[in-house]
Amino acid sequence: MVEMDKSKDKSKIIRMCGIEPESIVDGPGFRYVIFVQGCPHHCHGCHNPESWAFDGGYDMTVNEIFEDICGRPWLRGVTFSGGEPFEQVPALLDLAKNIKGAGLTLMSYSGYTLEELEARHDKETDELLEMLDILVDGRYDEKLRNLTLVYCGSENQRVIDMKKTRIARREGDHGMVIPYKSGFDFEIKI
Ligand code: SF4
Repeated sequence: MVEMDKSKDKSKIIRMCGIEPESIVDGPGFRYVIFVQGCPHHCHGCHNPESWAFDGGYDMTVNEIFEDICGRPWLRGVTFSGGEPFEQVPALLDLAKNIKGAGLTLMSYSGYTLEELEARHDKETDELLEMLDILVDGRYDEKLRNLTLVYCGSENQRVIDMKKTRIARREGDHGMVIPYKSGFDFEIKI
């Protein structure tokens, strides 16, 4: 792999809390998980409160992260987690374009609901939503905690199949949200 000359790296900066380069619990398949720094939601029982402070964490450029992703050809996709990814839309949008261009799937968590994000009427937010295969939306609610849920922690949160949702909406089902169903779902008969 060719080492990047960081002095020439003019790509946008992402404020980072951490990286899990090979996760199997944050979406389908092997995934590279980016935990961004900064979250305004402060949910009770949050599993990652060290990600809240917007002045915490460290900087990485979009190119640095993408180069690291490209060095792992076994990955199926990338997941944006947090922190709140939708507080860093411009830089994550650039990274998302690279990720999708490389043929990887893209999933994001957000404490905002899909409807709250759409109500921003912000071009870059809309573009980032358009690139997602899966969105897990909504704040974590400790009172609705359910350990049997896949990819989320409380029953108010939704794991949304964004591709199917976009198709349904184009066909006229405005406001429709289609839940994601894992390809590995099967019924066990005993
Ligand atoms: S949105 Fe996520 S990272 Fe932010 S406080 Fe809630 S659970 Fe924690």
